[in-house]
Amino acid sequence: MRDNCGRLKFVSAFFFFPFRSFLGRLGIRYDIARIANAYYRDEFNRAPAEAKAVILPHCLIGEKCAARFSKEEGVLCKECTQCRCGEIRALCREQGWQFYISPSAGFTKRLVQRKGIRAAVGAACAFEIEKGIRATPITLKGVRLKRRKVIPQVIVTARYDCLDNAIDWDLLKGVIVDGAGGGRSGDHAG
Ligand code: SF4
Repeated sequence: MRDNCGRLKFVSAFFFFPFRSFLGRLGIRYDIARIANAYYRDEFNRAPAEAKAVILPHCLIGEKCAARFSKEEGVLCKECTQCRCGEIRALCREQGWQFYISPSAGFTKRLVQRKGIRAAVGAACAFEIEKGIRATPITLKGVRLKRRKVIPQVIVTARYDCLDNAIDWDLLKGVIVDGAGGGRSGDHAG
C-alpha cells in the first residue's frame, strides 16, 4: 500500500506536469525532491558502492578554491578546508563511492556515461530541479541521462546562487554513511 502510494505521488508529480503547474497556480505545491527521493530510495540503496557517486555542483566550492579542472573528471578537489566538499570527497573514498564536482548539467550527463554511475546523489536549487524535470526524461526506473538510467537522490541547495552556496552537509554525510532514508530524515529535500 505504501509502495503504491509513493508510486502514485511520483507519477502525478512527474508525469502530469501540466496538471501540477495548474495546481501550483492554485497554491497547491508538490515537493518534487522529497517525492523523488522517497520513491527511488530503496533502489538507490541497492546499487553497489562502486557504482554510486556524489556529484556536487560547482556553486558549493570555496571562493578561493585552488583545485584544477579536468575535462574528464571536473573540479579536482584537493581536500583543503576552505569548503565542505573536501570532507565529502574523503568520506566517499572511505565508503568506496565515486565523487565529482561538476560545472554543468551537460558535464554531469557525460560523466555518468564515462564512469558507469548507476546511482547518484546530486544537489541543485529549486530552479535547476524544475529545469531538469522539463529537459530530462524521468522514468519509474530512474532518470535517463543520455543512454544511461541513473537512480537519483537530490539535496536542495540553500539558495538560488552560483557562488558560495550551501547544502545540508550533515544530511549528505548521512546518506553516504547510513544510506538514503537512513539519516535523520527520510528524504533529502533540504
Ligand atoms: S575543499 Fe576542494 S573544492 Fe573545496 S575549496 Fe578546497 S580544493 Fe576546492
